[in-house]
Amino acid sequence: MNEYDSARMAGILAELGYAQADAPDEADLILLNTCSVREHAAHKVYSYVGALKPLKERKPHLIIGVGGCLAQQEGQRLLKGIPHLDLVFGTDALDSLPELLADAARGRRRSHTPRPRTVGIPVLRRGLKPGLKAMVTVMQGCDNFCSYCVVPYVRGRERSRPAPEIMEEVAALAQAGAREITLLGQNVNSYRDAESRLDFPGLLARIASVPGLWRLRFTTSHPKDLSPRLIEVMASEEKVMEQLHLPVQSGSDRVLAAMKRGYDRGRYLAKVEAIRERLPDLALGSDIIVGFPGESQADFEESLSLLSLVGFDFLFSFKYSDRPHAKASKLKNKLSEEVKARRLNALQARQREISLAIHRQQVGRVEEVLVEGPAKKGQGRLAGRSRAGRTVNFAGPDELVGGLVQVAITEGLVNSLKGRLCQL
Ligand code: SF4
Repeated sequence: MNEYDSARMAGILAELGYAQADAPDEADLILLNTCSVREHAAHKVYSYVGALKPLKERKPHLIIGVGGCLAQQEGQRLLKGIPHLDLVFGTDALDSLPELLADAARGRRRSHTPRPRTVGIPVLRRGLKPGLKAMVTVMQGCDNFCSYCVVPYVRGRERSRPAPEIMEEVAALAQAGAREITLLGQNVNSYRDAESRLDFPGLLARIASVPGLWRLRFTTSHPKDLSPRLIEVMASEEKVMEQLHLPVQSGSDRVLAAMKRGYDRGRYLAKVEAIRERLPDLALGSDIIVGFPGESQADFEESLSLLSLVGFDFLFSFKYSDRPHAKASKLKNKLSEEVKARRLNALQARQREISLAIHRQQVGRVEEVLVEGPAKKGQGRLAGRSRAGRTVNFAGPDELVGGLVQVAITEGLVNSLKGRLCQL
């Protein structure tokens, strides 16, 4: 979502005549798009903006702004706490950027953090040239109020974009060369077109019919709302990729109840079983929080055992941290940083073993890969993604970039696969 908002900011700035600088010290304007979902992310913003102070002293005309969720949460406090900061803009203030920048250029420091709107999502794409892959927001906000989460407070309540507007944007992107589109929403399963009552599976099927589009992914899906209809559309639409992010957060029923997630371990596992029955090649990803207040060693071990039981392909794992407004911040029995760090390390070590084992099982398969560009480690190698979203590196000529190729997998590593290009 933040990446998408950054692209929106880039589009607005391009219209104002800005061009991208190669490095911060060459810039006349530095905007930070921030996240506040974890305390660590929030701290990083303060230290990054703090480190820009000498640059601002050398270049007084430089405008420094902070936007996104931390800006929404902190507002005026950020301006007060950081004297060399020129501007703060919230999650729903992007359209005001031109005016805010004009004020900053006149030396008027401003914080603009309107409450996230309750209906509608502003027109999102302005003057952007898409690459091979693009993102499209279908809904924003969240009504779930999980007890640890700040999102409903900084992103507001759930609201969906009208289906015709989404279709128009997807068609324009496909026509401009985007071949893979990822649909975004805090909980895409809550999508509902206000006029036609079209739901997310219906929207997905409709988007899959857009000419020129090859691949379709989406994120994120709340496990309690994953429906049999969505599974059917995923299984029947060739363009919908075999990848699903289904954040579980904990393997312990006690912790899941305290998190107010609306499902228990058994129900989560039943959903996984149902989806794997229809999509046996699906790559499943998840999120886990360790060290939720009161999480016992036994609770934590339930999370560890869930990893092995499900065999997630990829996992985003985090230490619990108190977030403003979130109910869990008022709970007692907070765990020490040391315990949280130890549990996180153990969880990540287990996940590395699982990812490696899954990736080794891919050896010998032939995968359809969308070639994205040179591999990170270069040396004439190319990189792309399989249908399941795994990174595949292989040797091949540059003219393959932007196309689909077949690659025979020869080696599985923790975070990627290596392969050999099949006959062209
Ligand atoms: S579903 Fe829960 S964790 Fe996800 S954004 Fe909503 S409140 Fe936060």
